[in-house]
Amino acid sequence: MILKLYGRLPIFAQNWACSWAGYRRSRLRYTPYFWRTLSAWEISGNGSLASLHALQHGRLRTLVERARKYVPHYRDLDLPPPAGGSDPREAIRETLSSIPVLEKAHYRETPDRFLAEDIPRSKLIRGRTSGTTGTALPLWFTAEALAEEYATIWRMRRREGVGFRDWYQAFGGQIIVPFSQEAPPFYRSNRHGRQFLHSLYHMTPGNMGSYVDAVHDLPSSYIIGYPSSLHLVGRAMLEGGRSLPKGHLKGIFTSSESLLAFHRNTIEEAFGAKIYDRYGTSEFAVSMTMCRERKLHVDMEFGIVEVDVVESGDGWERGPLLVTGFGNDATPFIRYRIGDLGTRLTSPCSCGREGDVFADVDGRIEDFIVTPDGRRIGRLDHIFKDLLDIAEAQILQETEAAIEVLIVPRESYDRAGEERLLRELRSRLGEIIKIDIRKVESIPREPNGKFRAVRSRVGKQS
Ligand SMILES: [Zn+2]
Repeated sequence: MILKLYGRLPIFAQNWACSWAGYRRSRLRYTPYFWRTLSAWEISGNGSLASLHALQHGRLRTLVERARKYVPHYRDLDLPPPAGGSDPREAIRETLSSIPVLEKAHYRETPDRFLAEDIPRSKLIRGRTSGTTGTALPLWFTAEALAEEYATIWRMRRREGVGFRDWYQAFGGQIIVPFSQEAPPFYRSNRHGRQFLHSLYHMTPGNMGSYVDAVHDLPSSYIIGYPSSLHLVGRAMLEGGRSLPKGHLKGIFTSSESLLAFHRNTIEEAFGAKIYDRYGTSEFAVSMTMCRERKLHVDMEFGIVEVDVVESGDGWERGPLLVTGFGNDATPFIRYRIGDLGTRLTSPCSCGREGDVFADVDGRIEDFIVTPDGRRIGRLDHIFKDLLDIAEAQILQETEAAIEVLIVPRESYDRAGEERLLRELRSRLGEIIKIDIRKVESIPREPNGKFRAVRSRVGKQS
C-alpha cells in the first residue's frame, strides 16, 4: 500500500521520503546508548586478551543469570549459576559447558518461550531469525541490541577513517525505485543519512552504464552493499575501463552474503579500495568484522563464538558455529547452532589486535534470477523472511522466461498468502516473467548439506 503510493511520487518526493525514513531509522539506531557503547568498545577493542575475556565473563554472567530467572526455556532447564573464579577464560568455558546447545528446530517449536519476561512489551521490537534455511521465525529485540550491533559496524568503519558526516553509496535490498521506471537515475538519496541508495532491481546489461556513472559522479567516501551486487557493478566498471582511482574511497563494507574470492578481486580492482566484510545475523547473536589482514575478528564485547570442531589442521579448526549473543536481552540465544560453518585460526592475527579470529565463515551462496528483460536480481530469499505462513521456499529457474517457486506451506497458508507471495515476487521481478508456485513436502539440500534459496541455470553466481 505505502509502496504503491511511493511509486507514484515524483523523484524529488521519493528522495524526501527516503530521507524521512532515514531520519526515523537513525533515531532508532543512534541513541545515547549507541554513543556510550561505541566509545567504550573503541577502547576495549584494543585491550589485552585478558581484559577481553574478563569483559566477556561479566557479560556472560549477566546473560545467564537473567536467562535463568526470566526466560521460560532456560528457567526450565534448571541451569547451575554461572561459574565465577579468578580465571575468566576457564569460568566462561565452565559456564558454557553446563548449557546444552540450542538447535534451530528447538527454537522453531516454541519461539515464545525464549522471550524474556522482564522486558516491558513497549520496548520490544519484532524481528525474524536469519533465513539461511529458508525458515523465518519471529524473535524480539530491543533498541539496545540494535545499538550494540551498530557499535560493531561503526567501530570497523571508523578504524578505516570513515566518519559520521561522510556521504556514501549503498547497494542493499531496499525497493526505492519503482520497477516500471525505465530511465535513470536508478538511485534515490537520503540526505539525513548522507546516503545514496541504489536499486538492485534495475540492473540490466543496458542500464549498467548509468550505475557506473552514478558511482563516479555521486560524492561519496565509502560504499556498502551485498557482495553479489557490488560484483555486478564492479564488472561493468572494469569492462568499460572505468575503475575508480586507487584511494578515492576509504573502504567498501560488505555484509549479508558470503564474500567469494572472485567477488573480492573484481570489486577491489574496480572500486580501488579494500573490502571489509562483516558477518552478523538477525538474532543479534554474533558479530565478526574484518581487519586489514582480511581476517574476521569476533567482536568479543558482542558475543562468544564456539566452534563445534569437525576438522582441524596446522593453525586452524573448522566446524559449525555455536553463538552466544550478549546484546539480545529480549530473546537470548545461548550456544545457538546458527547454521553456518567457520574456520577459526588458533594463533593471533598479525594486525596486532587480540581476540578470536576466523579465516572465513560459509554463509550463503545463491544465484541471481534473470528476468526476460535481462535484469539480474539477487537476495530474493528476503521475501520469504517476511512471509511467516511459508516454512521453506526455493526458487528454481531454467530459462529467462519463467521461474518455479517451491514452497513448504504452514497450516496458515491460504489464497491470501499466495497472493501476498505473488505480489512480493512481482514487485521485484516485474509483470512479464512467468511465475509458477508449487507446494511441496520438503526441499532437498545441496550435497554439502547447505540450503540454497535460489538455483538458476541462467543466473549462476559461481
Ligand atoms: Zn586482524
